[in-house]
Amino acid sequence: MATEKKTKTLVSACLMGIHCRYDGNHSWSEELSKRFETEELELIPVCPEQLGGLPTPRPAAEIRGGSGDDVLDGTAHVVQIETGKDVSNEFIKGAQAALKIARITGATQALMKTNSPSCGCDGIKVGGKRVDGEGVTVALFRRNGIHVEGVE
Ligand code: SF4
Repeated sequence: MATEKKTKTLVSACLMGIHCRYDGNHSWSEELSKRFETEELELIPVCPEQLGGLPTPRPAAEIRGGSGDDVLDGTAHVVQIETGKDVSNEFIKGAQAALKIARITGATQALMKTNSPSCGCDGIKVGGKRVDGEGVTVALFRRNGIHVEGVE
């Protein structure tokens, strides 16, 4: 009997109900669960902020001065909103770890949580408002040929 070949897909862990968000909650996604009805996916959960060594819960953070690409280039920064502490290094480290997981598993696509400074795809939140841009991990994925889609 032939085995079905599922598409290896990285996914923001919080979308799968894992309590890895900055506030200790999850972002379980109805949209993601519906995709299982029509697509053969092998999901590989990653939380770049945890992979970067940040605790859960952790202070909320946002990108200032640009987008994820600019953080990778050192011309923008990820800072904790309340304290202004620069956590760019942790976000970059987490993005690199997530990319390594993609390489090890052979995943070529990713479904990522919208608005996040790590996982945001075609929009991130700054000052409580959604603005154009992408998170640090999404920027690194795109630079390395991984197809990324945003999930609410
Ligand atoms: Fe979810 Fe990504 Fe934030 Fe982790 S870094 S909690 S996976 S949006």
